[in-house]
Amino acid sequence: MKVLDGKGLAEIIKQEIAEKVAEIKARNGNVPHLAAVLVGDDPASQSYIRNKVRSCDQCGFESTLIKKDDSITEEELLEIVHDLNTTEDIDGFIVQLPLPAHIDEQRITLAIDPEKDVDGFHPVNFGKMAQGLPSFLPATPMGILEMLKRYEIETSGAHCVVVGRSNIVGTPISILLSRKASPGNCTVTLTHSRTRDLAKEIARADIVIAAIGIPNFISGDMVKPGATVIDVGINRVEDASRKRGYRLVGDVDFESVSKVAGYLTPVPGGVGPMTVTSLMLNTLEASAK
Ligand code: NAD
Repeated sequence: MKVLDGKGLAEIIKQEIAEKVAEIKARNGNVPHLAAVLVGDDPASQSYIRNKVRSCDQCGFESTLIKKDDSITEEELLEIVHDLNTTEDIDGFIVQLPLPAHIDEQRITLAIDPEKDVDGFHPVNFGKMAQGLPSFLPATPMGILEMLKRYEIETSGAHCVVVGRSNIVGTPISILLSRKASPGNCTVTLTHSRTRDLAKEIARADIVIAAIGIPNFISGDMVKPGATVIDVGINRVEDASRKRGYRLVGDVDFESVSKVAGYLTPVPGGVGPMTVTSLMLNTLEASAK
């Protein structure tokens, strides 16, 4: 079994981006600029944002972090989005999800200019993606594709089972892997909480993509020998032996699946760092427009 080292790969890609940014800067003085809006004090969101800001530094980007208390109103947040849409100096921006319950996430996402939507969540980008047109791809599926490509994992003709149908991971990766493209050309089964016999579906898969949000949900006895298993899940489980009182685990039981799979992503250090790298690649592209 080979571990797909997303952390190491992300470092290589960020180095490649930094070299491109240095070239662009030398040519015309431009530096890509990413802004991020963080509402509230959710510890997971704070940690994701810290990683994104750190990655901007590594890539030689400029970054702006706008932090707001969770008492912010929907109208005030919309005002910030409008400002970012029209600030020329900012190439792309993200509004970190989830947002507090009193704010309509869909309304905020719809307000983002698709040309600056480097998270690839706006329906305009989603629609373009579904039709195979150039667009900002959603960061996590894009990171998975990049990982499959760089590790030269054959996807053409493979049977891929995606578990979870969220708008940001499960649904878009099922579309992307079924496209006539490389990576792609998979026969995809998109499964979810209402799937009748999930174990039977997973057992047939050459590629399993788990985006469920349940710790260690997929075990070794469910996976076909030699399959590629991509674990998107990031779950905090209590662990008194750790200083911070918890550890991160995926949706895949690493120990048992590693005895059966051909390739497997770890958590942490797998899909997560690749997601951040995709955000950097989208921002670089946005800055070239
Ligand atoms: P979500 O939380 O919006 O939805 C979960 C999905 O899992 C739903 O579609 C549901 O139908 C499915 N599901 C739930 N229980 C199931 C069951 N018993 N059997 C089959 N399917 C079931 O999904 P999400 O936002 O894609 O997040 C999934 C996980 O991925 C979370 O742990 C999240 O933290 C993580 N995540 C990681 C990254 C990353 O960069 N690595 C990015 C996004 C999300």
